[in-house]
Amino acid sequence: MTKTPARLRVAPSPTGDPHVGTAYMSLFNLAYARATGGAFVLRIEDTDRARYRADSEQQIFDTLHWLGLDWSEGPDIGGPYAPYRQSERLDTYRPFADQLIADGHAYYCWCSTERLAELRAEQQASKASVTGYDRLCYGKTREERAALPGFSETPVVRMLIPDDAPLTFTDVIRGEVNAPRPDDQVILKADGFPTYHLAVVVDDHLMGITHVVRGEEWISSTPKHVLLYQWLGLEAPAFAHMPLLRNTDKSKISKRKNPAARLTWFAEQGYLPEALRNFLQLMAYPPVHEGTDVASFDDFVAAFDWAKVNTTGPIFDLTKLGALNGDYIRSLSADELADRVLAHATTYGQWTAPSEQDVALLRAAVPLVQERLVLLSEAVPKLAYLFTSDADLVIDPAGISKAGADASTVVSTAITALTELDDWTHQAIHEALGAALVEGLGIKPKFAFGPVRLAITGSLVSPPLFESMELLGRDSSLARLEKLAGLL
Ligand code: GLU
Repeated sequence: MTKTPARLRVAPSPTGDPHVGTAYMSLFNLAYARATGGAFVLRIEDTDRARYRADSEQQIFDTLHWLGLDWSEGPDIGGPYAPYRQSERLDTYRPFADQLIADGHAYYCWCSTERLAELRAEQQASKASVTGYDRLCYGKTREERAALPGFSETPVVRMLIPDDAPLTFTDVIRGEVNAPRPDDQVILKADGFPTYHLAVVVDDHLMGITHVVRGEEWISSTPKHVLLYQWLGLEAPAFAHMPLLRNTDKSKISKRKNPAARLTWFAEQGYLPEALRNFLQLMAYPPVHEGTDVASFDDFVAAFDWAKVNTTGPIFDLTKLGALNGDYIRSLSADELADRVLAHATTYGQWTAPSEQDVALLRAAVPLVQERLVLLSEAVPKLAYLFTSDADLVIDPAGISKAGADASTVVSTAITALTELDDWTHQAIHEALGAALVEGLGIKPKFAFGPVRLAITGSLVSPPLFESMELLGRDSSLARLEKLAGLL
């Protein structure tokens, strides 16, 4: 089946740290653009100057690139419909507002913010059945309106929502959707900036967007957009409203309540971008391959179908994401994993300027923890004993009390066996200690190797012991055993 190339966009507002929902929307928009051989556009919707944050736009670029959700047109790279930043398109919107006024679909409103606040308070107090703007300005000239209280010099422009405004629309995912009756929405603000509603319709039209895929929270806005398309004589795009991501307690994921709502949080924590991307593919969408949650983005795209989207808000379960992250960590080569751990540790402050020697040791040591990592950030703490000097290594006092009655004999016997050992490899170390402690002293492996582990790593629980000793070398291993001997 050949599909018509679709044009989709994600249109985040730069109002702070990018939200995980922006990545989620980008993923589904990009998937359908790819599936149809179309285009994925990034548009920055920065018309809300009160909520604008200067560094937010760069964070949007960085986090989406980090996830591999790349656009082919956008403010940073341009494209045939540039500019892609709404604040640079202000001249574009005004003529559309003028046309709506000339055609009687929109009107000027001079009501001051104080009057609007009073009106809202009155409506709330009287539990009025009809809420929203009371159309005081509708049909009045500036002079007529100026004679009344609550007048402000610079007007806004409002939509004149007709009584018979259509309140249903067809959604690609949901079928027929009902939405509440809109208020006389402001489309042009007093500062000359369009509101989201006018800008989104004008830009989606001018940029040739065929499918508007966005979060469920925009369903109530869609009737306004449908009206604007009708009034302006434009063909409306298809609409698809994705469900909202939920916390395990079913509440909506919000940046105020949940650190995981911030996209930058995932990189800080040490999640791999491919694991997070894979996880988002599973939000309200079934696994691509039977029996596993793991699937590449290409495979997701190849089988992509809107009909598979479930409208129930999917649970964003960090435990599940952690398991997937572990799967991806295990699938990396040791060298790739070492590169990722190093980049993470130096970017987020676990390590500052590591020496060449430390980097080489990290490369050699990463296989020791690869099987057990959930997050990249766990590697450096788990391997810290290798990067600590023998003198500075702290031996867990609880470990000393649990080391067993034979600990002292074990440690001195181990020292003798290791001093005599020719071949310093983990296999030879294992064999020599097995022969001296388990066979020679007749002690169970747990009590035979436990004190050695405690000496070498500072803890009774650690990454593989004999490999650690090989990496530390004979001198350091013996020095650590001597140190523990002195404490027992
Ligand atoms: N600027 C809106 C947002 O921040 C875009 C909504 C839409 O996709 O229409 O989510």
